[in-house]
This record gives sequence, C-alpha cells and structure tokens, in this order.
Amino acid sequence: KDSLDVEFVEDDNGNRRIKPMLDYEAISNTADVEVPPLLIDQVIGHEESVETIKKAAKQRRNVLLIGDPGVGKSMLAKGMAELLPPEVLEDVLVYPNGEDSNYPLIRTVPAGQGKKIVKANKANVKSGDEKKMMITMFATAAIFVLGILYQRIFEAIIAVLLVIFISMQIKPKSTNMAPKLLVNNGDKRFAPFMDATGAHAGALLGDVRHDPYQSGGLGTPAHERVESGMIHKAHKGVLYIDEIGTMSMKTQQELLSAMQEKKYSITGQSENSSGAMVRSQAVPCDFVLVASGNIQVLEGMHIAMRSRIRGYGYEVFMKDYMEDNEENRKKLVQFVAQEIKNDGRIPHFATDALDEIILEAKRRSGRKNSLTLRLRELGGLVRSSGDVAIEEGVDLVSAEHVITAKKFSRTLEQQIVDRSIVQRKEYSVFYSSGGKIGMVNGLAVMGDRSGIVMPIAAEMAPANSKNEGKIIVTGKLGEIALDSVQNVSAIIKKYTQVDISNHDIHVQFLQSYDGVEGDSASVSITAAVISAVEGIPIDQSIALTGSLSVRGDVMPIGGATSKIEAAAEAGIKKVLLPKSNMEDVMLEKKYEDMIEIVPIETIEDVLENILINGSKKERLIQKMREISGVVTSKVSTD
Ligand code: ADP
Repeated sequence: KDSLDVEFVEDDNGNRRIKPMLDYEAISNTADVEVPPLLIDQVIGHEESVETIKKAAKQRRNVLLIGDPGVGKSMLAKGMAELLPPEVLEDVLVYPNGEDSNYPLIRTVPAGQGKKIVKANKANVKSGDEKKMMITMFATAAIFVLGILYQRIFEAIIAVLLVIFISMQIKPKSTNMAPKLLVNNGDKRFAPFMDATGAHAGALLGDVRHDPYQSGGLGTPAHERVESGMIHKAHKGVLYIDEIGTMSMKTQQELLSAMQEKKYSITGQSENSSGAMVRSQAVPCDFVLVASGNIQVLEGMHIAMRSRIRGYGYEVFMKDYMEDNEENRKKLVQFVAQEIKNDGRIPHFATDALDEIILEAKRRSGRKNSLTLRLRELGGLVRSSGDVAIEEGVDLVSAEHVITAKKFSRTLEQQIVDRSIVQRKEYSVFYSSGGKIGMVNGLAVMGDRSGIVMPIAAEMAPANSKNEGKIIVTGKLGEIALDSVQNVSAIIKKYTQVDISNHDIHVQFLQSYDGVEGDSASVSITAAVISAVEGIPIDQSIALTGSLSVRGDVMPIGGATSKIEAAAEAGIKKVLLPKSNMEDVMLEKKYEDMIEIVPIETIEDVLENILINGSKKERLIQKMREISGVVTSKVSTD
C-alpha cells in the first residue's frame, strides 16, 4: 500500500501493477460500457443537482449553478434543454411594415412553417423574375424582326437597348416584401440550447445591421437587416450564460426585462448606425435562463437578476469531488466511455488504463477517500492517453499510455513552475541545504494544483518612525500576506527575547509570481521573522507550509500534495505540514522516497524542527515552553 491507499500486485512478468480498482467482471474494455442516450444521464457525480435540473425543466424555472470550472455546469444546462418539450417550438418571421418601414412586423408560426412560408414567397419572386425575362426576350425578338422587315435596323437596335434598359429598372414588387426567417426551429429534435457566455449586447439581444445606402432608396429594406439575438433563438429552450457576473450591468438589466416580458424588440445596438432608427415589433423570447459561475460571480451579478432566479427558480451548488466508492468508480468508467464516444477518434481503454484514470481521479481530488469531479481536465487526460496509444499504432489504450500522457499533459501553471525551478536554481534564489538567518522556504500553490517553493526573507532594521516598530511586507504578495502578518505579529512579540519595539521588521517574498496564493504563509513568515530577530539560522533543507492562529496553533492549508511534490522537485529533503493535513497527502510514487513529512501542531513544533541546533535555540525553545506552560496552567485552573 502507498499513501494513496492503493494496493499493488505483481503481474505475470513480475512487474508491479496497481491492484484492479474495480471488479471488472462484465467488461474487457470500454467498448462494453453503455453510454446513456440523454445528456442529463451522462452527468456524473451530481445526483442532487440532476434532480433539481429535472424539476426545473418540468416547471420551466431559471437555475443558477455555482461551482468550479469543468465540473459539468454547461453540460447540465445542455441536458436541461433536452428535457424541455420540443413540440412547443416556434419559428419567428419578420415582415416589412407598409405604413412605417422602420417598424418591421413580427409573426410567430409553429416550428417548420417558417421555412415553407419564406420558400413560397421566394417562388413568387422567382416566377415574377421569369415573367419579366420572357416579356423582355419576346419584345426584343419582335422589335428585331419588325426592324428587318421594314429595313430599319438602326432604329430597331436602339429600341432593343431601350427595352432591356427599362426591364432592368423594373423589379418585381414582391422581392422587398418577402418575410425573413428570424428564428428557425424547423429541424430541431430538442428544444434549443444557446450558450451566450461572453456574448456582446448585439449577439445576445439582437441587432439591426447598418445600411450605407439607406438614404438613396437603393438600400436593403429595414426588416431584412433585423438579426435575432440569442435570447430569441433560445425561445422555448435554454439560454446558458457562464460567468454572468462579467456581463455589463446594462446588458443584465435588458436581459432581466426580456425574462420578465418574455418578448423583446430588436433594435440597432450601435447608436450611430442607421440600424438604431429601426425597432421591430416585440419578438418572443420565452427562455429558461441557466446562469453559472464560481461563487465570486455573485458579486458582479445584478441584484434583481439574482433575486429573480431565487424567487422563480433554483440555486444549485456543485461539488468538485465525490466519495471514492465502488459505485462512483463505475461512474468514472462510464465517464471514460462517454469521452471516447464524444471524441470519436481515440481507441477504447483496457481495464488497467481505467485503473490509472481512477487513481488519477483520487489524486486530483486532493483529499482522502474522494474522486475528483473536475472532469473536464480528467477528460483531457483521457484524450491525450488515447493520442499516445494512436501514436504507437495500437487499438487499445493501456496503463502505460495513461502514465506517459500524465507526463506530457502538464498544465500551463505546472510548466511555469518547472521553468521557475530551473531559473531559481541558476540564480540561487533559494537554497536547499545549509543554514541561513531569516531565510525560509515557504510553500505555495499556483493556479489550480501546482505547488511552488516560495522563499521568504526577513530582516530587522532600526525603526523609521518614533512609534513602535512595524512589520513591513514587500513583494507581490504584500497585500494578501498583510492579513496573516497581523495575526503573527502578536505571536512574534510574545515569544522573541529581543526588544523589537524600536525596530522595523522587513519581510520579503522573493520572486513571487502573479497567481501565487499567500494565505498559507503565516507559519513561514513567523519562522523567518523569529530567526531574523533571534539570529538563529534556519535549516534550508526544510520547507514548510501552514497557517497560524493568534494563539500559535498551526491550522490546515490547501494543496498539501502539490506543495510537497514541489518541494521534492526542488531538492528539499523535509516538509513541515500541519498535522490536520496529513491525511490529504497523496504523493505520486516517485516522490515518496525523496521527501520526509513531519506533522506540526504548534509554532514550537515548527521552530524545534526548523532552527539549527545551538544554545540560542535551546534558550528560545525553553522560554517558549515556559510561556505556553503558563498559558496551559491558567486554562486548567479556570
Ligand atoms: P463547466 O461548464 O462546469 O465548466 P462543462 O460542462 O463545460 O464544465 O464540462 C466540460 C466537459 O467535461 C463536458 O463536456 C464533459 O465532457 C466533461 N464533464 C465535466 N463534468 C462532467 C460530469 N459531471 N459528468 C460527465 N462529464 C463531465
């Protein structure tokens, strides 16, 4: 067994293999796995959300889906559209208005009729055109024959040219009068699904094109320039908007009124265009809104929009992991089969390849006994594993292919981290051996799941101001780290033996990058500062992470596994990790022998481990024990 709680067995050739993660009695590879026909039944790990969506579809309610990227939000929305009744679908036509050409008229007909109506009108126009042609040809021929008979060739030619010229000027009346098909649902088996993520106002709400020849009477008639928006195309279906908070307030406002009225006039969106003069009759837009995003999205969301969804719909929070049990492992197998079917190019997976995928889902969940639901990313691994197999020219994906693909498909953040490790080693920004005063190897997470070694340096200097000495933080992480510094300064003052009241302490995050999170750095900052103040060197072969409470207790942090792996990559030998995080550690096999993990519970544990032994250290620890001893006895007498 390893830290992932996975058992190993030897295969016939004596190679170490993961013990099968499932009892694959019925299948020999994913070709034997059934993929459900409806999208909603393909959604994995969100049973409750699926139930809510089904209910919402039945009652045509709006839905707000909150969750991390790639957990299946748009998939649920698309699945919802498949549940809406397709028989109520309609086509929308726009007609010219004889009385006011800037106010085109709208007509709704059952789905499929629209195309026929437009076609019939076109046929009319065509027969008009044909008639015109026949008359012109007949007239030309007659004039010509008469010209020859009466020996008046020259006059005849002039007459023919005149006829042709006149006929070119005449347009059959009906061309301009034919309706335009604005929304076509003729060939839809399911209710429409429109993804309006990031759509600008025109695409969302409809637009009227500008016409440069408008004033000369040569232009395109107004009704032909009317373009429907996604809200209209989503009529009787689903309008999906991801990251709705990034949409401008004005557009959200318009969207809201479209939702309330269930119809919305189309007008030109840019003020200076001739399109802005045109405004159509109201066009139906009776859609169900599915909005989504992560929890921060709520901040940018129009309050009235949120309350509309709350009042007339459902809010759903989507998990990013599910319990690791047999049933859910089977679902992951179904997921792999789905991805293969959807991709259509990659070969099927053998069961040992499925084991590797399940293992990776365990790892990526970042917690004990769980499987990740960030399935978009896992789908990426499925595809690249398939690509590896194709490259080798085999028609079944095996465990080796998945392992190779894992190496290739490092995320952008992971690649940046890889680069930065090389660079930092070249410029020796951090050390992985020896002792240094005020220097500590902190650990941070970048992006989603890429750990990074983040060196922190602390130095004491005479205070600038007459007031009490301050802790000053510099480097990109300044702002975020300020909070944690507020917390730790009390502890530092409590434990240090040196009077720091007329000193400023500078803390610097060396080479911190954008996107690096610094909230779990308070343990590291405290260690660096105490080392600087006391003049006790820190062991550079150790890295640490953890958040510190005002009382000096070490609190759990996120991203434990990736942080430890980053430390191992950087050549560090030992990591100090909050004790409560020990169960989250799921190291990849190759790192297991490279690094030792020491659980820590208090700041004393940290200093005990990280400061280099000597008399100064002994005195400090002794004093800290006394102080915290006093605290404990106080508590116990209460
Ligand atoms: P989101 O909208 O949450 O960012 P998507 O719905 O776009 O995520 O997911 C992208 C793809 O990842 C889907 O098309 C599907 O292939 C796969 N996927 C994501 N979540 C799930 C899930 N819960 N079940 C099955 N497949 C999923």
